[in-house]
Amino acid sequence: MYPDTNSKSKALYDRALSSLPGGNTRTTVFMKPYPIYAARGAGCRVWDVDGNELIDCINNFTSLIHGHAHPALVEAATRQLALGSAFGMPTESEINLAELLTARLPSVDQVRFANSGTEAVMMALKAARAFTGRPKIAKCEGAYHGSYDYAEVSLDPKPTDWGGNAPVSVAYAKGTPDKVLADVVTIPFNDIDGAVSLIREHGRDLACVLVDPMPNRAGLVPADKAYLEALRQATRDVGALLIFDEVISFRLGYHGAQGLWGIDPDLTTLGKIIGGGFPVGAIAGKSEVMAVFDPRHGKPALPHGGTFSANPVTMRAGLAAMELLDQNAFARLDAIGEAVRKGINDAFRRHGVPGTAVGLGSLLKLHFGERPIRDYRSAYMSEAETKRQSVFNLEFLNRGVLAAGYGLMALSLPMRDADIESIIRAASDALAQVAS
Ligand code: PLP
Repeated sequence: MYPDTNSKSKALYDRALSSLPGGNTRTTVFMKPYPIYAARGAGCRVWDVDGNELIDCINNFTSLIHGHAHPALVEAATRQLALGSAFGMPTESEINLAELLTARLPSVDQVRFANSGTEAVMMALKAARAFTGRPKIAKCEGAYHGSYDYAEVSLDPKPTDWGGNAPVSVAYAKGTPDKVLADVVTIPFNDIDGAVSLIREHGRDLACVLVDPMPNRAGLVPADKAYLEALRQATRDVGALLIFDEVISFRLGYHGAQGLWGIDPDLTTLGKIIGGGFPVGAIAGKSEVMAVFDPRHGKPALPHGGTFSANPVTMRAGLAAMELLDQNAFARLDAIGEAVRKGINDAFRRHGVPGTAVGLGSLLKLHFGERPIRDYRSAYMSEAETKRQSVFNLEFLNRGVLAAGYGLMALSLPMRDADIESIIRAASDALAQVAS
């Protein structure tokens, strides 16, 4: 049972506090009173250092779509390790993965690899500025795109910052320069008039609009197709680029979210699942824009290196992961996602707990209020909702399911029907506790 003051996780955390600020490296894995330390994973399960077995519905924040230690991915990575883990030279495996991605993503001609989604977004924004010669970028209120300072503006504005209807650009991290805030236009998600009028207003200075078609931190509700179409049209009208952040949403379909929605962005950022479990990011898009990276005619408009970019271990594992992810795999992911959403929504009603499970495909998120979720503001939790969520989280965990503290769940292909039933049962029992 968590928490347990005699556990090995607690002892590791106490030890970690002196050498790591707050006890670890990722703010996202921090939990009170202490995080649970992983020992190993296999398929859809993880075991912590105390020997507790958990069904993993975090999957390293959506990046593991084949669960843990899939034999084909272990084989691909170890084969490359034996041949050398990194070179100051390109490798064929980088071409192989780039070819797969260009074949799958309708808008993409060319790809450039990086080490994380954060880096991919940073380079995409820089590419848009280099291509257009304009300074400003636009992004949606509440949407997370990694930790580049431009990308994290207005990630978590508090109701006291909301002002009127139009979102304002507020710093997420202390130390964000005012110049950054002045160059980020925060647009409302899923609000065509609000977003388009801001795009028009800043049009001449706008390099790009960055949008995640199903932004996790802004509620994990899919964008309306009409909203994405309006962004596409408005960016074309003002000569700005449209960037789709598919770091997570590439999980939604064989051709990405852009394939599902039928939108043709200029640039796409990728990460997570395309690395087969290893650190990765990618900037992808139309060759006329990707030309900013091209060094054939002297110094490129946007030089881009990275000691570990296109690392061959990542490239091989990523290719193996993507090859396993065929249309049948997506059909299975859609089916299990739908089953879990339905099971949890039934349980919310059965136990009389206000709330809903939203999302698409293998991604879902639990909200603990009654109102429909459309965007960041409607997803913003009251104190009572936050309380219900934290009771749920603890009860869910103690029934053997690992989910992210803020309600995100990412399912994986090794989950069998019995695992899906266990997840739904654990959620239902946890909701019964919330109701009591
Ligand atoms: N973009 C989106 C939509 C994300 O969800 C994330 C991470 O969760 C990132 C970018 C940043 O990716 P990374 O954590 O690999 O830096």
